[in-house]
Amino acid sequence: MLCEFCKQGDVLKVVVTKTHETIEICDECETVWYNKDGRIIVTNYDQYMSERGIAPVWSEISII
Ligand SMILES: [Zn+2]
Repeated sequence: MLCEFCKQGDVLKVVVTKTHETIEICDECETVWYNKDGRIIVTNYDQYMSERGIAPVWSEISII
């Protein structure tokens, strides 16, 4: 799926290893989409991971 923001990256479904949360992330601009209480939250990878105390590096997630 093409990213609606940068129109270049591919949106990947991934699992965050430490929290087991499933999120979607653009492999180009690192926009993140996730579901919270039935609503889709749009943020970016740095913000998302820092809120959880995890380093915002790709080794913390696994593509599913
Ligand atoms: Zn993007």
